Amino acid sequence: MSTIFKKIIDKEIPASIVFENDKVMAFKDINPQAPVHILVIPKKEIPTLNDITLDDSEYIIEMYLAIKKITKDLGISEDGYRVITNCNSYGGQEVFHIHFHILGGKPLGPMLTI
Ligand code: 5GP
Repeated sequence: MSTIFKKIIDKEIPASIVFENDKVMAFKDINPQAPVHILVIPKKEIPTLNDITLDDSEYIIEMYLAIKKITKDLGISEDGYRVITNCNSYGGQEVFHIHFHILGGKPLGPMLTI
């Protein structure tokens, strides 16, 4: 089933796009949780991390290369940042089109509270 992210890929709804190539798109999260909060998505509808296969390899590596470029361009690569993928209900996934969150722009503190 298509998601809101597919509509962003197809430019049916607007997003603040920071990077795009034939495999990947990256745009600002609409509800930022850090001074920098970017979502990186593949231009292929993969619902969750559980669904990736070797056929998706190019998309996954392109997502990491996009993260490398975006964080450098935004000037946060040296200070550092966090990359998160939420999966299914315990992971808090809301949009079922696989994505990386890039969070940065300030010290992010401990990764999790228990
Ligand atoms: P998830 O919880 O699935 O890991 O993350 C989904 C993210 O997508 C959330 O951080 C949410 O703020 C963001 N989001 C949901 N709808 C939209 C939208 O229409 N535009 C943008 N830019 N971000 C969205």
